[in-house]
Amino acid sequence: STWDEHRQVFEQLGLQKSGNMGVFDGEWKGNGDVVPSLNPVNNQVIAEVRQGTTQELDVALDRVAEAQKIWQELPVPQRGQVLLAMRDALVKNLQPLGKLVSLEMGKILPEGVGEVQEYIDILEYALGLSRMLNGAMIPSERPGHVMLETWNPLGTVGVISAFNFPVAVYGWNSAIALVTGNGVLWKPSPTTPLVSIAVTKILERTLKEHNLPPALCSLVTGGTDVGKSLTADKRAHAVSFTGSTKVGRDVGQVVQGRFGKSILELGGNNAIIVMEDCDLDLAARAVLFAAVGTAGQRCTTTRRLIVQESIYDKLMERLVKAYGQVKVGDPLHDGVLCGPLHTKDAVEIYKSTLENVKRQGGDILVGGKVLDDGALQHGNFVAPTLTRVRSDMDVVKNEAFVPILHTMTFKTLDEAISINNNVAQGLSSSIFTTNPATMFKWIGPSGSDCGIINVNIPTNGAEIGGAFGGEKETGGGRESGSDSWKQYCRRGTCTINYSGALPLAQGINFG
Ligand code: NAP
Repeated sequence: STWDEHRQVFEQLGLQKSGNMGVFDGEWKGNGDVVPSLNPVNNQVIAEVRQGTTQELDVALDRVAEAQKIWQELPVPQRGQVLLAMRDALVKNLQPLGKLVSLEMGKILPEGVGEVQEYIDILEYALGLSRMLNGAMIPSERPGHVMLETWNPLGTVGVISAFNFPVAVYGWNSAIALVTGNGVLWKPSPTTPLVSIAVTKILERTLKEHNLPPALCSLVTGGTDVGKSLTADKRAHAVSFTGSTKVGRDVGQVVQGRFGKSILELGGNNAIIVMEDCDLDLAARAVLFAAVGTAGQRCTTTRRLIVQESIYDKLMERLVKAYGQVKVGDPLHDGVLCGPLHTKDAVEIYKSTLENVKRQGGDILVGGKVLDDGALQHGNFVAPTLTRVRSDMDVVKNEAFVPILHTMTFKTLDEAISINNNVAQGLSSSIFTTNPATMFKWIGPSGSDCGIINVNIPTNGAEIGGAFGGEKETGGGRESGSDSWKQYCRRGTCTINYSGALPLAQGINFG
């Protein structure tokens, strides 16, 4: 079994084959259902977890609030030192945690390890921020007055995360939420509970070593009832939600309904435009990584390839050949580029998407098969697929979270940009060109309408230094770098009068 084969990894991370508690609020507990965590390679149970309940969430929210009161009083550079210790603890666990991500989520090992590295990177970024967070001094129109802008913590940030980045999404949110003085309550995806327990155990140890209340980083695994309760609860001053647009729309409305803050990171429908003046080798290599990496289960996966008519055949010839050579298999094996889909349900989505392509008049150029022979027979494996479609087909408008890349042609740059923008989602986009005029048009007001706008690199693989997120139905949230930290803060506009008089603004003379 997966457990026996990788027992050392699990034990190093403090996991057990059964009896893992799915709630941490300073103590480990769990009174909800016992659920299995499945290995997508063979659908065998890796280990069992006892999930939390809404009652346990209720208690945990109070515990986080108590812990946060202590944490917010710590000078920010001291918070930075604690984040540095968390970073060091993750570095020690980089390999086993990366392997656990691969085992539970199904992404290939370099991507599993890379995801933990992303968490390490954002903790380093947050350490830097701990010396740099600053407000503004604004000129006052009144004599003897000072106007300041201050940034204080919100209180508790609820993080609801998706299955596909079971470590990094929590890392991005929690590192920035913590450095800005918040406590964090994490509701992970129900299908990646082991990763969330392992991460929380690492944070627990670090907080205890610093004599801080470990409830600051609380965890409640559970199903939709837990997520819904967290979303509706006023004690979660902000809810950072990463997941599908369908669920995110509800979450956004519920949080708005109670005047909380939400950070929404929802679905994408990302395109690469390939211009005839591009470096075709570069473009072909980028497309392969962008569309096949993580078996098409990144929010930034390229789903549409928009190619200038004159080079379409040439590019397709290369891509069809490259797709034919992609090794699909166990994500822990060397040379495998594409692991399994995360669940059996996703295999059904793959099949129905291909049926829709055919029904709507599109063609399958390569792939198009569920892979269930030999060693792959019990897993969720599919062949990465290229289709030939028209940009106005319905099938192209929706995000199917599988490795299917729809290809289409255009004649002019304006047409290509309009195809890129003519979907409901607005996460990531790329253009391949050597023409500077094209590059600047693409990043300008008449260019891509996405939150991430790349030139000569894939749609995915964002660095943590920039703000990450998308427009339109992608939700509008921004996480990670740049000034995203402000979203985790309460902005204060403060005016201090040291004049001894009472001059009013706008020159009003009252009384
Ligand atoms: P999902 O089904 O929307 O679930 C996301 C999370 O929401 C899970 O923890 C889920 O747990 C919870 N949830 C479901 N219903 C809820 C409700 N009514 N209230 C509160 N929480 C609820 O998404 P997924 O399949 O895990 O992830 C794939 C999606 O995430 C894709 O659309 C992808 O594009 C998107 N994504 C976006 C980004 C980004 O940064 N833009 C990054 C990664 C992924 P339960 O199932 O237990 O309820």
